[in-house]
Amino acid sequence: EIVFKTQGVTKVYDTGELKVHALAGIDLELFAGELSVLLGPSGSGKSTLLNILGGLDHATEGRVWFRDLELTALGDRGLTRYRRDHVGFVFQFYNLVPSLTARENVQLVTDIARDPMAPEEALDMVGLGHRMDHFPAEMSGGEQQRVAIARAIAKRPEVLLCDEPTGALDSKTGVQVLEALKTINDTLGTTTAVITHNAMIRKMAHRVIYFQDGRVARVEVNDAQIAPS
Ligand code: ADP
Ligand code: ADP
Repeated sequence: EIVFKTQGVTKVYDTGELKVHALAGIDLELFAGELSVLLGPSGSGKSTLLNILGGLDHATEGRVWFRDLELTALGDRGLTRYRRDHVGFVFQFYNLVPSLTARENVQLVTDIARDPMAPEEALDMVGLGHRMDHFPAEMSGGEQQRVAIARAIAKRPEVLLCDEPTGALDSKTGVQVLEALKTINDTLGTTTAVITHNAMIRKMAHRVIYFQDGRVARVEVNDAQIAPS
């Protein structure tokens, strides 16, 4: 079951003096329930593609579908609605509200979502059941990122897009964050795409997508991972 499909997607950033060809024709499919990882050198186009899939940016050419909804046919209002209804985001920096506890940070989302989880359930799922009443400043970077993940999934999005969620963390703490994403993927079946340089992801992912110069150079399917355990 295909969740995302892209056809000939290009992205050109026009900075005035020069044009940067960030994506040079991406044909890609992401599948329901899978955890996909985007790998490749810095500047190869991973973030640009993730932003287009998440409705945060527009392709220059080509077409993008989320199921049967063509994102490239939507205006800004349609993309805003798409993001709200279907997508959870996690970024390198956690952007928690410092004056609110972990639980209250997640409640910011659950108070307005249509069919939310309980904040406690979301925090339990990322291994923070015992830290719910702590403030961000009382938590490690890895814990804060896991609060951000709980916040992202609390509205039960169909897809979770993570742009360098481990970028500010040491590799061991980064693995804990990846394990939280894996748990969510296993438990909720959330279709997940992650950009990370943490090597552990390759064992966890169903699909490894290698970027090079704005193209998909190779896709590896991790059969050991896909087989039911
Ligand atoms: P990656 O995520 O693989 O590091 P990016 O998608 O961030 O790659 O960037 C791809 C290319 O697009 C790079 O050359 C980068 O410098 C350029 N780029 C990204 N965002 C912008 C922007 N807002 N304006 C101009 N160039 C950009
Ligand atoms: P505009 O941005 O110009 O106001 P939209 O992009 O909001 O236009 O809407 C274009 C069409 O796509 C509309 O018919 C709208 O109902 C549909 N649409 C927009 N967002 C979604 C969504 N998340 N799910 C389903 N249909 C949508």
